[in-house]
Amino acid sequence: MSRSTKIEINPSALTHNLQRVREFAPNSKIMAMIKANAYGHGTLAVTTGLSDADGFGLINIDKAIELRKSGIAVKILLLQGCFNAADLNAALEYDLDIVVHNHQQIKYLQQSNSTSTINIWLKCNTGMNRLGFSAKELPQALEQIQKLPSVKIECLMTHFASANTPGSAGFTKQLANFQKIHKLAPELPISLASSAGIINFPEIHGAWVRPGIMLYGGSPLSDTSASELNLLPAMQFSTELISVYNCSAGDSVGYNEAWTCPEAMPIGLATVGYGDGYPRHLPSGTPVLVNNKLVSLIGMVSMDIIALDLRGCADAKLGDPVVLWGDNLAVDAVASLAGTISYELLSQITARVTRTQRT
Ligand SMILES: *Cc1c(COP(=O)(O)O)cnc(C)c1O
Repeated sequence: MSRSTKIEINPSALTHNLQRVREFAPNSKIMAMIKANAYGHGTLAVTTGLSDADGFGLINIDKAIELRKSGIAVKILLLQGCFNAADLNAALEYDLDIVVHNHQQIKYLQQSNSTSTINIWLKCNTGMNRLGFSAKELPQALEQIQKLPSVKIECLMTHFASANTPGSAGFTKQLANFQKIHKLAPELPISLASSAGIINFPEIHGAWVRPGIMLYGGSPLSDTSASELNLLPAMQFSTELISVYNCSAGDSVGYNEAWTCPEAMPIGLATVGYGDGYPRHLPSGTPVLVNNKLVSLIGMVSMDIIALDLRGCADAKLGDPVVLWGDNLAVDAVASLAGTISYELLSQITARVTRTQRT
């Protein structure tokens, strides 16, 4: 039998979390963010659970086409738009919506001789200083686009740098900038909110919300957990014990002798490591579940293996299940111990990990 290191995707958790978005933003359509292989869950794997979404947003046109060919009929949005003229032709052929965020992308539209309508999401830079037209550039961009008979502006959109911090001055400033821009074309629908904005700022819900992490059961907020937000983990990352033995007091475990046994104690080895996407810099003490009981990671995470302190789980034996994150262990908690956010842990699961779906 092959190695049991796997992620299991739970479609009913995705459906539940999508419903939570509807409860937070009842008057908005939902553009589900499925970039980065659906935050590591698998683009095609999530569309079952998210089949009620009003659209799917991603970066790679090949994935978008694959999704369209798989029978997805709702909007599919290319979040960074077209990278060249060929992308625009493919977007037209497969009826993809595109973000337009720079002058070059307007040129592609101007140079296209297609008569089919393309829906664009015009991106405004309101202060995050990533993508989009500034308030200064926008009037000209709007004018150029509105001259093109087969281009329909679906939405004015912007993205906030700190919607996860209620009361932040940066957020207030960005919102004021956006409102100024929206006055140029008040008839246009708007899209402003990612997960944090959906939860924190009902006033920015607009026509389309763009949830990502909350669909997968991660919290976008640092001070509120996913379970407090009634979000369910869509991914369970697990493996099994492949060795269990007793160490003596003073024995060190793993590379760099990073951990020394304070007393005689049982140790378990699980077949998972940074080669699977379990972060190498997780510290001793990181929670792990063995047989659903809380135990601690000890020593360094290796490429293919981790060591566990089994003092809290004395009956553990070879083959017992080990959960790295999932139903009873929040990925946010593990991410925070790794000095990062759940987004990164979820999206960096590597290709050798088996992918399955719960039924
Ligand atoms: C990724 C992304 C989102 C979703 O962000 P979350 O914090 O995961 O909800 C929304 N909008 C844009 C433009 C994005 O790139």
